[in-house]
Amino acid sequence: AEAQLRQVQKMEAVGQLTGGIAHDFNNMLAVVVGGIDLARRRLNGPRREVMTHLTNAMEGATRAAALTRRLLSFARSEPLLPERLDTAILVGGMSELLDRTLGERIKVKTELANDAWPVFVDPHQLENAILNLAVNARDAMDGTGKLTIRSRNVTMDSNAVGDIRAGEYLVIEVSDTGCGMTPEVKERAFEPFFTTKAVGKGTGLGLSQIFGFAHQSGGEVGIESTVGKGTTVSIYLPRTDAQASNVRAHPAMQARAED
Ligand code: ADP
Repeated sequence: AEAQLRQVQKMEAVGQLTGGIAHDFNNMLAVVVGGIDLARRRLNGPRREVMTHLTNAMEGATRAAALTRRLLSFARSEPLLPERLDTAILVGGMSELLDRTLGERIKVKTELANDAWPVFVDPHQLENAILNLAVNARDAMDGTGKLTIRSRNVTMDSNAVGDIRAGEYLVIEVSDTGCGMTPEVKERAFEPFFTTKAVGKGTGLGLSQIFGFAHQSGGEVGIESTVGKGTTVSIYLPRTDAQASNVRAHPAMQARAED
């Protein structure tokens, strides 16, 4: 069942990706096919021209190969191994890492509920999610500003945020005083490979990975953002009952594994 669950989660991640990249991949293939076709037609023409078409085709193929490499490394990303967690301890344990990541000119503040409900999630994935959000916040703040990590217990109505189911959640909010997102960026922020960052700086996978993690944990993720003021990303994780032992998978995940 464990291996099956992992397989299902991997396929979900790949499924999420395909929509976002199929379009890009097709464009690259069109460049390859177009280049080879032009080269074939000009085979008896000037050598330099044939060379240019072949070089274009080669570049298209190289870009497509880079894209599938990223896709594969994303699909291979670690499976979820959930356990019962006190998020205050997890976030508290990250303070040194966060300080180092954000540098001296960005202040890090935590406001953690001391009666926070326990959750049943993969601690490494949650840590990665928070670190990813901190890095995004740093990039948005251009050197100086304030990062706040808050946790609260909330009771949600269904669909109050995204596709959330009605119920009790522990929400972790990561806020920055950065540049904010335009509505167009916010609309696409969870898309795999969507990035506004320079080549080599952003992968466009941070928020889509957080989206996958939240959903696979039975939760949701939401963004509130104002251009010029800042951004808050909220991760909603379902409350786990106090007696839950760490051998039982989250009901949402069991349901998925049995599909
Ligand atoms: P990446 O950070 O590699 O670009 P993400 O999926 O994490 O990929 O983010 C996608 C895009 O969403 C970013 O390129 C950026 O435009 C926007 N974004 C994410 N976080 C923030 C933030 N805290 N403030 C402003 N814009 C953000």
